[in-house]
Amino acid sequence: MHTEQNKIFQRNIKPDKGSRDSLIYTLGIESTAHTFGVGISENDKIIANERDTLKPTSGGIIPREAAMHHFKLAPEIIKRALDKSGLKLKDIDLFAFSQGPGIIPALKVGAQVSTFLSNKYKKKLIGVNHCIAHLEIARLYTKLKDPVMLYVSGGNTQIITYYNGTYIVFGETQDIGIGNLIDKIGRRMDIPFPAGPKIEELAKKSKNYIQMPYSIKGMDVSFSGIETFVSKLIGHQSVEDISFSLQETVFSMLIEASERAMSYCLKDSLIITGGVAANKRINEMGAKMCKARNAEFKQIPMEFAGDNGAMIAYTGYLMKEYKQEDLRIKPKFRTDTVEIKYR
Ligand code: AMP
Ligand code: MG
Repeated sequence: MHTEQNKIFQRNIKPDKGSRDSLIYTLGIESTAHTFGVGISENDKIIANERDTLKPTSGGIIPREAAMHHFKLAPEIIKRALDKSGLKLKDIDLFAFSQGPGIIPALKVGAQVSTFLSNKYKKKLIGVNHCIAHLEIARLYTKLKDPVMLYVSGGNTQIITYYNGTYIVFGETQDIGIGNLIDKIGRRMDIPFPAGPKIEELAKKSKNYIQMPYSIKGMDVSFSGIETFVSKLIGHQSVEDISFSLQETVFSMLIEASERAMSYCLKDSLIITGGVAANKRINEMGAKMCKARNAEFKQIPMEFAGDNGAMIAYTGYLMKEYKQEDLRIKPKFRTDTVEIKYR
């Protein structure tokens, strides 16, 4: 075992609270999709969170372009995070990266940059599941110990609960992620990526609900039928009415499934995390449902809703004692395949 690795473990076993030496500084890199993010944690405290998101002027995210964006910006974002934290690379005790799920060329950038840094500075490298990182940062900031978690992002939509050493996916999308649906509809209405904030703004200007397919299948949801249906409305109905009806429909589906998960698993709190958690309406619906069943709902800070490096650093810190043999990227990395040893 590396001596540096030993040092981390010793520090962890015998924390010397008074000095900076007893603290573990983790630098986490996020690069699964559109965002290159670098976060730094001091034990379980976030001290830097810098990022840049690729925003194509037309069309969606092209994998190769995302990778080029990340490679080009990596040095600058790392420097910005270090400057914010007041640290130098040599002060970092642990490097972490988003191992998956995600787009292969984009994932490779985070893996390569963090592998290079961990080798150069001879520090341990931890591969983090991106979805679990979204959950852990949400738990950190809401202080809810054992909530049902509705994870809503560009590529992922899952309802997750913790049980016996694993995060169990209780329900999920059978096709595309909710953010992806919103972005696709947005693109057809000439709204550039990411369309979520603009659709939210348009939705506020309408109260006219257009009936749409409500596709919930047991605990799972499906969005592709809604995508086809809504696409046909464009040009015939106002963008405000479409945005309002789309939000009301898909958010209701997800809150309904989340409520069932809470009831079934006897959990009395809910958090919503992922990029779509930046939306006020989905949080309002979550809060209302929780109030009705006497459960607790806490909104996560906007800064940590979308993809970010801080969540990777913090989850890397939680996983500091893991012994991982396979540090290759995992484009289809599932939330429920990770053994959770730190809870
Ligand atoms: P993530 O992949 O977790 O970074 O989430 C990105 C997704 O969040 C994109 O599909 C965005 O369109 C979506 N998003 C961001 N802000 C909002 C919002 N206010 N309302 C709905 N979706 C949003
Ligand atoms: Mg994400």
